[in-house]
Amino acid sequence: MPGKRGNGRVALVTGANRGIGLEVCRQLGRLGNEIIMTGRDPRALGDAASLLARESLTVHPELMDVSSRESVRECGRRLGVKGIRVDVLVNNAGVYPPGDLLSVSEETIREAMEINFLGSLRTAQAFLPGMLQRNYGRVVNISSGYGSFAEGLEGPAPYSLSKAALNAMTLKLASEVRGNVKVNAACPGWVRTRMGGPEAPRSVEEGADTIVWLATLPDDGPSGGLFRDRQQVDW
Ligand code: NAP
Repeated sequence: MPGKRGNGRVALVTGANRGIGLEVCRQLGRLGNEIIMTGRDPRALGDAASLLARESLTVHPELMDVSSRESVRECGRRLGVKGIRVDVLVNNAGVYPPGDLLSVSEETIREAMEINFLGSLRTAQAFLPGMLQRNYGRVVNISSGYGSFAEGLEGPAPYSLSKAALNAMTLKLASEVRGNVKVNAACPGWVRTRMGGPEAPRSVEEGADTIVWLATLPDDGPSGGLFRDRQQVDW
C-alpha cells in the first residue's frame, strides 16, 4: 500500500534523474520515505529509478515536465488514481541559461522562468492542497545564492531573476499555508553536477544535506526561510 512502508511519508522530487535531485531521492529513501521520482526524459528517469531500486529503496518513476502545466496536472491525476499522496515536495528541477539583461532574449528569460519559477509554482498548486487537507507537508524549493538580494543577485541574469522569483514565491507561499505545512528554500552551495561543473567544491551528498533536512523538519521546525548548511541566511 503506497505510503505505508518505511517512515510512512511520500516524497516527490522534480528533476530526479540526475545531480542533486537524484541524491536527494537517495537520502530521503534511506530515511524510509517512499519516493516519487519525476523527470521529463523517460529513459533517464527509468535508469535513475532502477539504480535506486537496486539500492533497495522504494521508488516510483513518474513523467513530469515542470515547464508544462498539463504535464504537472497529469502527473497529479495519475498519482491520485493510484491513491498515492504527496507529503513532501522537493522542487529541484532547474536550468542555468546564460546571459546579461541588456542582451538576453526574452525566450531565454522565459525558459528560466518557466522551469525554475513557474515549474515550482505548478507543482505547489498541484500538491499543496492535499498537504493542507491532511495537515502535513514539507515543501523545499531549491534556490541559489544567485537569487539572493542579500548576496548581490550574482550569476547569469535569467537564472538569477528566476531564483529571486522562486525565493519570493517561497516567502509568499509560506505566509499562505497553515497548520503543519512548511515551505522553505535551500541553497545547496556550488555542487559538482552537470550544472555546477567538475570544479565545484561540493559533492552531491553535501549539496543534498540541507534539502533533506528541510524535507524532514519536525513539527516545530522553521517555515518561510532560505537555508544553507542548515542555517538560515538572508534573502
Ligand atoms: P543538473 O545536474 O543540471 O540537473 C538538473 C535537473 O533538472 C535534471 O534532472 C533535469 O532533467 C531537470 N530538469 C530541467 N528542466 C526540467 C523540466 N522542464 N522538467 C523536469 N525536469 C527538468 O543540476 P543540479 O546541479 O543537480 O541542480 C539541481 C537544482 O539545484 C537546480 O534547481 C539548480 O538551480 C540548483 N542549484 C545547483 C547548484 C550547483 O552548483 N549545482 C547551485 C545552486 C543551486 P534532464 O536530465 O531531463 O535535463
